[in-house]
Amino acid sequence: MMATGNGGTSADELTRWVGKKLLWVHRKLALKEEAAPRMRGPEYVSGEAFSYLGRRYRLKLVERQAQPLQFDGTRFTLRRDARPAEPHFRHWYVSTGTDWLKRRVEALSARTASKPSRVEVRDLGFRWGSCGRNGVVYFNWRLLQLPVRLADYVIAHELVHLREGHHGPAFWAALERALPDWQTRKVALADKAKDHLVFGLPPDRSGK
Ligand SMILES: [Zn+2]
Repeated sequence: MMATGNGGTSADELTRWVGKKLLWVHRKLALKEEAAPRMRGPEYVSGEAFSYLGRRYRLKLVERQAQPLQFDGTRFTLRRDARPAEPHFRHWYVSTGTDWLKRRVEALSARTASKPSRVEVRDLGFRWGSCGRNGVVYFNWRLLQLPVRLADYVIAHELVHLREGHHGPAFWAALERALPDWQTRKVALADKAKDHLVFGLPPDRSGK
């Protein structure tokens, strides 16, 4: 909860406070931008690491196996003839992570005091999440690569959008109540996102 004092915070004060915080966030982001490595897509080669909830698992190409892509809890194995493999990874992330995401939404919705009517995991391109009509929240399957605390930022952000459609002072104040360290997470997300493979990008070209 933000410090409001006895008489509460005026809209002007709140706007100034949020503006200051945002300026700080943007400055951090600008600094990171300069040092940012180029984003790259996966090559689907043996030894390459793929992340699930912040943990990295190696990939090994194999000649034969029942499913195109398998995961045994310690590593991925991909059948050599199953490349390009993005659809297989997308399928794996969605089928493995959807239940986890729904449980996190459940847990965080207690903090944001907003409950979605439905949670969907799908391809949102370069967006991590979005909030649709009728209380449906959408999450990008690529989000499942992120460490939990960064995924939580995206989840809380979208849950707050169920109450506050725009990024106004009321939005950031509600996010602050739900996730007091949202700023560090936001900065880390912008920073860490580049460490993750960008499915959908060619392996050797930079993206946006
Ligand atoms: Zn937003």
